[in-house]
Amino acid sequence: MNLALSLLLAFAWPQEGQPAPLVFEHVAVVPMDRELVLQDHTVVVRDGRIAALGPASEVAVPADATRIDGRGRFLMPGLADMHVHVWDENDLYLFVANGVTTVRNMFGSPLQLQWRARIQRRELVGPRIYTAGPIIDGKPAVWPGSVELVDPDEAAAVVAAQKAAGYDFLKPYARLSRECYEALVITGEEEGLRLMGHVPDALDLQDVLAARQHTIEHMGGWAEAAQRADSPLGMNGFRSGFLAEQRAWQTVDAERLAALAKSVRAAEVWNCPTLVVLQKWTQGDDARALLARPEMRYVSPFLRAFWDPGARTNYLANLPAEDVLAARRSVPAMQRAVAVLRDAGGGILLGTDMGNPYVVAGFAVHEELANLIGAGLTPYEALRAGTADAARCMDAAEEWGTIAPGRRADLILLSANPLTDVAHAAARVGVVLHGRWFPAEELTVELERRALAFEAR
Ligand SMILES: [Zn+2]
Repeated sequence: MNLALSLLLAFAWPQEGQPAPLVFEHVAVVPMDRELVLQDHTVVVRDGRIAALGPASEVAVPADATRIDGRGRFLMPGLADMHVHVWDENDLYLFVANGVTTVRNMFGSPLQLQWRARIQRRELVGPRIYTAGPIIDGKPAVWPGSVELVDPDEAAAVVAAQKAAGYDFLKPYARLSRECYEALVITGEEEGLRLMGHVPDALDLQDVLAARQHTIEHMGGWAEAAQRADSPLGMNGFRSGFLAEQRAWQTVDAERLAALAKSVRAAEVWNCPTLVVLQKWTQGDDARALLARPEMRYVSPFLRAFWDPGARTNYLANLPAEDVLAARRSVPAMQRAVAVLRDAGGGILLGTDMGNPYVVAGFAVHEELANLIGAGLTPYEALRAGTADAARCMDAAEEWGTIAPGRRADLILLSANPLTDVAHAAARVGVVLHGRWFPAEELTVELERRALAFEAR
């Protein structure tokens, strides 16, 4: 290599790949594989991975390392938002700025596949993306852009096409017929693509447990299956969609819930409650108040216009007020179900449903952590839902979600212990994204730059 080229690389390289090791010295590590804090440790990051972890007195610091003083600070794994809808490139940075280093995208298109490739090439700052393909629904589909599957014989072609395109899993949706759902389960298994999504209206919770659907979103099917014997809704046969289901949360039976939680646990099906999206179900002035919150400055004008309470594109604005209220009111009942699921040892995932009105990328993850605490989870349990357990759900426990040698270096450095209060998970000193260090000052400057650019439009 000639001298000019090596000089060029020496200057160009650090911005791209940060090949010099990154070392956190004398830091308190929250590894998230157990509920403990490893005091006065040193963590060495090299080539995007955790190269060493041990007591500060035992781990050698490489001579060329970028050294970060960890005294009084806590290092935890980056968070995963396990239910997102990213359509706006700006949101990718908002995740990272909030310590979200992995997302599970629930409605895929070529756009998210392109972002994933650019993020991997480090051309774009964003979280690791797992993505569904286009939602697989019946006809007419609830959302435009979905695949409408009406003939079970077509299921194999749909699954093969989504696999070939590079999608990671299948998302079944509300209007699928039983026959099409069953065909998806079979062909999904053959192709190695799991079903993660809704409980179709034509099926009930026990059906999707029997099919071993891998994840259930929004606690779908639970309320219907747990109705009290004297429920005015009836125990069977009300399959009239999402809003009826929200109302049904008011008349669930505690014992039935407990029994359901046990069957969910036995079937090893994960649940992603996404409580925060329902909390944001508002209209009119309440919605305007949400749009005035400080984090809205970082949301693109494109998305904010979409969320305007007067916009035709805002589905919440077009619903009867009582439906909106019913959805918001179901949150406390859903929280009780989450607690019951926890008691049964069932798998819980941290997810927000961001992309829906007023649910802001990254920021909403911290609201959902608080919601899980409100349900009765401990800070450790709530954080697990977005770290170690999220990785287990994606069969990637050896890859991310905990701090251990060999894991991908996706980390958050905090000024306080997140195991004493999940709010501390937002007290960022900096974020490591696949080995690249983003000090909090840099994140703040970039957020502010974006907000000013949006305001100038
Ligand atoms: Zn969603």
